[in-house]
Amino acid sequence: MPASLDGQLVVAISSRALFDFEEENRVFESTDDRAYMRLQLQRLDVPARPGVAFALVHKLLAFNRAGGAPRVEVVIVSRNDPVSGMRVFRSARHYGLPVQRGVFTRGRSPWRYLAPLSAHLFLSANESDVRSALAAGVPAARVLTHSARASDAHPDELRIAFDGDAVLFSDEAERVFQDQGLDAFQNHESRHAATPLAPGPFKPLLEALHRMQRDPGGAMRIRTALVTARSAPAHERAIRTLMAWEIEVDEAVFLGGLPKGGFLRAFEPDFFFDDQTGHVEGAAGHVPAGHVAAGVANADPGAVQPPPRT
Ligand SMILES: [Mg+2]
Repeated sequence: MPASLDGQLVVAISSRALFDFEEENRVFESTDDRAYMRLQLQRLDVPARPGVAFALVHKLLAFNRAGGAPRVEVVIVSRNDPVSGMRVFRSARHYGLPVQRGVFTRGRSPWRYLAPLSAHLFLSANESDVRSALAAGVPAARVLTHSARASDAHPDELRIAFDGDAVLFSDEAERVFQDQGLDAFQNHESRHAATPLAPGPFKPLLEALHRMQRDPGGAMRIRTALVTARSAPAHERAIRTLMAWEIEVDEAVFLGGLPKGGFLRAFEPDFFFDDQTGHVEGAAGHVPAGHVAAGVANADPGAVQPPPRT
């Protein structure tokens, strides 16, 4: 029987999202790929420090500890070269992360490998790779490498927070807000409260987490939160949409435009996803955060950042 990842939650993650390679990345950006490779080889036995998505990956892999069939697979999908890839695997081993599979594309975009992996999530520091993944239907986010690291106060509970519009839900309501303002948005959402919103890019990930949540099979638990700028009366359509999908979130925070950071710090997520750069930047001061370049707020291609090393 060939190996298979069927039935598992598959997370594809770049080296720079999993580990802190910011210092090495500066060498890459200021010199070249050869100098970067030499530096990574010199540091082969020096474990890289945990990066922004390390806590998320560490806890996800802990779901496999209960024995029985594995439930989560984490695959390195990276623009790194294969030589530098050796340090990634060694660093994973140092922290006891059972990461066995990896794709290293030396500067080329690796997003095409997401389809054969059937990835449920792609995390990378590279904006264009994230956009390509989202366009291919894979939930994906650009990690903010300078984000605050996750709290270590709840090692047996994976906590993930999601924005609503253009992340869990489509951007259809967000378009009304952008085009016509807050009053029109509130009226529109009140009138359509009973009509579920169309799925957004991260519905498949929430769905996969919900399946794991209903069948824990070990000591690890999952807690999810919707953290949205919506407020009453627009809350109702969001709640009714989740009910129509038969997906529950554990917490819902309707902020009516208040900054999300302090509320996220109180929830202590291992990761937070949002489509608005302002919210993501604000959140990154408090918790690990990623930008979902989807929906009307990200439609301007001029907003694309120059691709950093992944
Ligand atoms: Mg949003």
